[in-house]
Amino acid sequence: MSSRYTLNPFQYTRFSTREVKVGDIGIGGKNPIRVQSMTTSDTCDTDATVKQILDLSEVGCEIVRVTVPSMADAENLKFIRSKLASLNCKVPIVADIHFTPTVALKVVEYVEKVRINPGNFADKKKFATRDYTDKEYNIEIERIAEIFLPLVKRCKELGVAMRIGTNHGSLSDRIMNRYGDTPLGMVESALEFIKIAESENYHEIVVSMKASNPQVMINAYRLLVSRFIEGNLNYPIHLGVTEAGDGRDGRIKSAMGIGSLLEDGIGDTIRVSLTEDSIYEIPVAKKLVEKYNSNFFAEKILTEFKDQVTYSNRSTESIWIGDYKIGENYPVRIESYISLKNKSIEEILDLITKNAVFSSIKKYEIFYFSIKTSEEFESLLYLKNRIENRAAFSVDFSNMDSQLFLSIQDKLSLFEKICISLEFLSKFQEEFFKLHDNRNQINKSIEIKVPSKSLSNFLDIFLTLNNFENLTVSLTQNKLESIFNIRKLASFVKDSKVPILLEVEIENLEEGVLESSKILGSLLLDNIGNSIRILDLNSEPDTILEISFDILQSARLRTTKTEFISCPSCGRTLFNLQDTTARIKSKTKHLKGVKIAIMGCIVNGPGEMADADFGYVGAGPGKVHLYLGKEIVSKNIPSEIADEKLIELIKENGKWVDV
Ligand code: SF4
Repeated sequence: MSSRYTLNPFQYTRFSTREVKVGDIGIGGKNPIRVQSMTTSDTCDTDATVKQILDLSEVGCEIVRVTVPSMADAENLKFIRSKLASLNCKVPIVADIHFTPTVALKVVEYVEKVRINPGNFADKKKFATRDYTDKEYNIEIERIAEIFLPLVKRCKELGVAMRIGTNHGSLSDRIMNRYGDTPLGMVESALEFIKIAESENYHEIVVSMKASNPQVMINAYRLLVSRFIEGNLNYPIHLGVTEAGDGRDGRIKSAMGIGSLLEDGIGDTIRVSLTEDSIYEIPVAKKLVEKYNSNFFAEKILTEFKDQVTYSNRSTESIWIGDYKIGENYPVRIESYISLKNKSIEEILDLITKNAVFSSIKKYEIFYFSIKTSEEFESLLYLKNRIENRAAFSVDFSNMDSQLFLSIQDKLSLFEKICISLEFLSKFQEEFFKLHDNRNQINKSIEIKVPSKSLSNFLDIFLTLNNFENLTVSLTQNKLESIFNIRKLASFVKDSKVPILLEVEIENLEEGVLESSKILGSLLLDNIGNSIRILDLNSEPDTILEISFDILQSARLRTTKTEFISCPSCGRTLFNLQDTTARIKSKTKHLKGVKIAIMGCIVNGPGEMADADFGYVGAGPGKVHLYLGKEIVSKNIPSEIADEKLIELIKENGKWVDV
């Protein structure tokens, strides 16, 4: 992966783009990051589509996309437009086009922007495997230009903008054969169309690189920006994770993919695609862009970069925490925060005793306590003495008075890990060395908590600890720049191979899911972080444990449940996608690691379901096609028996287990 997608990976710098106007709304340049969504109604149904556009506009959606599968839909946009005008609604409309260049040519008369998919604008998918010589490849590009240029010229004449929107799941056969199903293929696919558009001196272009896997999506956008920097291109960028699904999983995947790119200064407009009514996408999208549209970040757009250091993927040593190994190639571990304030000591004992020996896949691994007073320490000793199971205790003494801490040293060996502050370490080096000697005899681990403001001092102190074993480091951080500071920390300790614990503190669950998915996802997908800890004073430890596992699953680091891929639905959807998704989920959610796609239509569904093991795809009113991977195995199954047939298919392929 290129690191040249950002001028400075240790500081927020928004990738600077030209402005593209979509009606009255500017995308890119110095504009705020725009929030957009899509209608799910039949575009020929004027009233329903107008209502959805008004509803979206009401909740703060700045640009609305509608699907335009046929000429009848394109023609109907004229009526939608005039009805919106009569209601004084000026929200710009984007027409979404797949496979139909003639429809695109018509619809640009009624909209401010057209979205085309370079994978299917001029190509039909045949999944053909063949080698293209350079000559054959160039003939293909000429053929595409012939089909695409009339649209470019018409957009130029009418002042209509265009999104060249690549999807990982619908790359053309030509691209697949030359570049494979890769981020590079996605980027090349868009660049081919950009070059053709530029040959007509048309630049009102926005580009997207969507995928359902946040890692593929992040790689593709980074690569796109790196190619833009190399080629001196500056088109605004539209971010999105496709088929993210619904509920918490949909939010986690979206925050991970979109949020981590925004954090890196990439993205000028976003759409959060959820398998829910579109209006529910807007609050999530607004939350994701809020921070970057604030003055603090707007001011930093022009910040000059300095002290650029290239960070790269890192490998670490492994260390023990009780019975759990972290680092090296071991799974990313979860530390679960237990507050001594919110529950009685007996309730905490019950939670620890019950769950630490719980044998399901999602079990507690390491319990984390923060101890300040001698009373709290006594409670902790009581807990530790009362349990006889494998629960590992990670105990944070960084808020404890240093004299009190020194006075309890002889008891520290009871805990599998102790966490101390960098400040303590610098003040009491000698005592720490003594402690360390004790620790070596009992094979315990130590976490050094580094405040972000002390990052620069950290390196000097850290170098004196070179002979120490079983160390981890973590950062106590300033929320606004957390990703950058942890990258710095990772770069400082790169040579020592010390594992890093990623800690995120959240204040309320709804925002916290987005924030922690973004911060943890961004770092983990860059291979930074060997264990995670989400601190939330207000939520139940079970809830936070679930969220932690869900984040690791979205980052494809630990699989603990079924993976669902479902499209957000649109005017092409052939059944109630939300109800169907919920129903199939309830029947199959226990199938650890199995990927099931639920897609609204056969036009785009099969292409977009990425690496799903099984697909349930709308084929016509009341009819469903079932897929095994990308291969269609049962056609036109009546929807009443389609769930059953899907389960049979899963069983036939040895992926079913009983609950
Ligand atoms: S897969 Fe879903 S969102 Fe995509 S075009 Fe079909 S129905 Fe619409």
